[in-house]
Amino acid sequence: MVSLGALNSFGHCPYSCPFCYVQADFLSYPALGVPAIVQWLSDQPSDTFDIVYVSGDTDSFAPPRTLEGLFLLEQLLALGKDVLFTTRMVFGDSALDRLGQIAEMYARSGLRLFGCMSVAQSTIPRLEPPPIASPLARLKQLHTFRAAGLIAILAVRPFLPIVPLSDYEWILAQAVDGAHAVLGEVWYVDTEGVLESNVLGSERLQTYDLATMPFDNNLATWKVYMAHETQEFFSVRCRELGLPFFMRSRPAIDFIRANL
Ligand code: SF4
Repeated sequence: MVSLGALNSFGHCPYSCPFCYVQADFLSYPALGVPAIVQWLSDQPSDTFDIVYVSGDTDSFAPPRTLEGLFLLEQLLALGKDVLFTTRMVFGDSALDRLGQIAEMYARSGLRLFGCMSVAQSTIPRLEPPPIASPLARLKQLHTFRAAGLIAILAVRPFLPIVPLSDYEWILAQAVDGAHAVLGEVWYVDTEGVLESNVLGSERLQTYDLATMPFDNNLATWKVYMAHETQEFFSVRCRELGLPFFMRSRPAIDFIRANL
């Protein structure tokens, strides 16, 4: 997993989602330029990874780094690996044109470019505050991604205890015929209570597991909100709507490679 790294010394990400672990114990990735990121990946044994994630500690496509994020996608093509990126950014027309051209370059090389649009709610805007675009604008972009030749993934991440199932019902309805697959995710919460205060106010999670993050090297122990009811809802509704649903990205990638 790579990213453009922390935006500056004041914060990881141009966006400020109150539920996000970058507001707590998550360690920033190194802030390297695009050539250094590609060189670092080139130096890794090629058989130790078959896909590059542009994700993690920041939105590498949010202004002011949209063009740098797209340049990173272009340069990663030299590695000969599939690439998956995640964003809450709604691209303008020229950036979308360029993204479509990048997807074409990947396809010509026999590779896939996965574009994950993240949407966590539809009626609680404080959870994805401006300048993040509306949920509807982001969900429409799933369809644009697909039309442009990307593998379009709806990432409803993380599942939060205050988001009603009716939000998720609406989100899934917008994704039909756009998303190739849907991802959910448990919510990682710091044990100091920073993220609970941000999202729940004075309340605290009543049920949670304690675990480290399986996708990152930070050593912190996190409270993990498993969202069992939400997971069950997604399993049922996604099956009914014909949307493949996964809680982890790896089985989603395997499914798409086997079926698309
Ligand atoms: S856009 Fe992603 S990385 Fe940035 S604050 Fe929101 S959840 Fe965190």
